Amino acid sequence: MSADQRLSDHERALYSRQIRLPGVGESGQLRLREAKVLILGAGGLGSPVGLYLAAAGVGHIGIADPDKVEISNLHRQVVHGFDTLGLPKTVSAAEALGEINPGLKVALHPEGFTVENAADLVARHDLVIDGTDNFATRFLAADACVLGRRPLVHGSVLRSTGQVGVFLPGAGCYRCLYPVIPDAASVPTCADAGVFGATCGVIGSWMASEGISILLGRRNQSQLFVVDVEAGSSRRLALAPDPACPSCGPAATILGLEKGAYAPVVCAAPTSPTMSETPLEITVEEASRLLSGPNPPVLLDVREPDEYAVCRIDGSRLIPMNAVPSRLAEVPTDVWVLVQCHHGGRSMKVTQFLRSKGYARVSNLQGGIDAWSLKVDPKVPRY
Ligand SMILES: [Zn+2]
Repeated sequence: MSADQRLSDHERALYSRQIRLPGVGESGQLRLREAKVLILGAGGLGSPVGLYLAAAGVGHIGIADPDKVEISNLHRQVVHGFDTLGLPKTVSAAEALGEINPGLKVALHPEGFTVENAADLVARHDLVIDGTDNFATRFLAADACVLGRRPLVHGSVLRSTGQVGVFLPGAGCYRCLYPVIPDAASVPTCADAGVFGATCGVIGSWMASEGISILLGRRNQSQLFVVDVEAGSSRRLALAPDPACPSCGPAATILGLEKGAYAPVVCAAPTSPTMSETPLEITVEEASRLLSGPNPPVLLDVREPDEYAVCRIDGSRLIPMNAVPSRLAEVPTDVWVLVQCHHGGRSMKVTQFLRSKGYARVSNLQGGIDAWSLKVDPKVPRY
């Protein structure tokens, strides 16, 4: 073993509390030192990700972010400070990371993560950690990682909730969860919904922790963690590849990164949503997140009473499909309504019917209660 394949005494002292952890040791510390990690976004999530990876002794970090530090960033983007206001975030972040780990090699990508550089950047790193806040970049990162066969850690935060996704090559990707890029206006962002800096800290630290676990070879499954800091709860969902996935499935249609497919999306939600801004369908995972959030939608079950007696999702209201037209007054107009049946067929008809009656905020629950049993709550019996 040559000297550069061993830790120096300085490194042993620096990382002693980490090296003694089961599954790390000197060999794990060396793996971290050799690792090349690409961080997308040096913002609320990228800040803790970068700080903790640098502190853990990750040897090479690439930072892609096209923005400059603004005063409204500072309450959550803790890698920046008043002294770096106006500087490119890449430069500001690199300074802070270098303070923690003087041996760190940082590569700056102030042009951001783009269709033009995505494949090359992904190929030059062992792991991509995405803390960006727009769907175009998230999907670009997801597809680039599938095509480049690199693991991806994804994170997002909204108000006091967040999620951390771990997507390993061949084990289920971001698009297995979210097949298409949503209309950005249908999803509120931090800019208009607000966010606590500490919530970014929780999710960003969790992302860093998952990233380190991947680098140490301790992850073999794609998974999603759904976290509600206010409620003090978190859930782990094991993910499996979706055979119909347009990115990683056997009949994948995304075979390259095409510019038009990732048009920048303006992240601004209008105050009064309209029909086109509410997704026609949402996944059970997304529904679960919404239902446990601060402003849960109403869940309308349109199955028959005997089916409802077999199983139901907590909090759902039953109005069988054929009774919906005569009981329309019972369907609220002032909140988001999710329509659910057994497999998603009847509920789609009701969703379309309600939209034809002027209900602007109605979505179908994809896969119905059967998908809910399979993917969210196995305690709900299947039939
Ligand atoms: Zn996939």
